[in-house]
Amino acid sequence: MSAISLLSQKLDQFPRVHAAHTPTPIDYLDNLSADLGIRLSVKRDDCTGVAFGGNKVRQLEFYLGEALAMKADTLLITGAVQSNFVRTAAAMAARYNLRCHVQLEERVNSSSEHYRRGGNVLLDKLLGATVHSYAVGEDENGADESLDNIAKQLRDEGANPYVIHLGLQHPPTGALGYVAAAIEFASQIDDIEPVHEIIIGSGSALTHIGLLYGLRAIGITIPVTGVCVRRPYAPQLQRVTQRLQELSQMLDLEVPASEIQLTDVALAPGYGVMSDHTRAVIEQTARREGLIVDPTYTGKVMAAVFLESPRLQGKHVLMWHTGGQPAIFAYQDALGY
Ligand SMILES: *Cc1c(COP(=O)(O)O)cnc(C)c1O
Repeated sequence: MSAISLLSQKLDQFPRVHAAHTPTPIDYLDNLSADLGIRLSVKRDDCTGVAFGGNKVRQLEFYLGEALAMKADTLLITGAVQSNFVRTAAAMAARYNLRCHVQLEERVNSSSEHYRRGGNVLLDKLLGATVHSYAVGEDENGADESLDNIAKQLRDEGANPYVIHLGLQHPPTGALGYVAAAIEFASQIDDIEPVHEIIIGSGSALTHIGLLYGLRAIGITIPVTGVCVRRPYAPQLQRVTQRLQELSQMLDLEVPASEIQLTDVALAPGYGVMSDHTRAVIEQTARREGLIVDPTYTGKVMAAVFLESPRLQGKHVLMWHTGGQPAIFAYQDALGY
């Protein structure tokens, strides 16, 4: 059996819904390629189709699969105030007839009215989610506990909640969506020039490890560079390593930690806050390509492409666009328009 069929068969063991518009296209960016002296393509996972799309649609296919398999009637999730995961979960809950409770954590110190009420927050409410808030931003286990308390209360009231946790003591289920994305990408590479490097955001690390794992499992050796968007190199490497190991156990085939590549060149000043350079990159990407990247994730990934371009001269680089576009409306003040 081919490696692809074998991996597909393993994925089929996990319950899943099919919601993403796939395969997402791969676009070549002529103008930024000329600006940077590289050949730059973009994998358009901003176009996955559910409520403005993004990478979380692929991840949620597996969480919703599990929730429906256990006959849950309520979905719970926690994330930053402008979380794309939370917004997409609220949309998927609506579509699959679950109620949704979202917990928004104070990870970014912003008093901007646009940040607090616009962008993804507006969409969470429009999609009918019940919004809770959590005052601490850097406490994953605390946020999970608080979410579990809400779930307990709902259970006491007769609901059957399904909780999507943040913390490392829970399995990396969402990564399965990016194992599937690796198989999808394999079906597209014959139609494009050989790719020398893939550059992708690394936050919870589930997107990064899912893609890396899936590619290696089917024998594709293209380097995958994760761009730190949430925490600096050392703690992120630790997280990516642990998650990759867990995924290896889940799918019963090991991809070694030596495959991990990571950079934090574009992280500063920190999660959800943009540097002047990232702001300039967001503007150049919009004005040269008509392509929108966001301040928290994909703007930093594109900033990393810019910063790494001296090393990548003449190479074909694939920037994996993971979405996040609604957040642009929350950063109106920071963007200065
Ligand atoms: C969540 C998110 C990421 C990071 O994905 P992880 O799986 O958490 O590492 C990247 N880009 C966007 C737009 C996101 O919303």
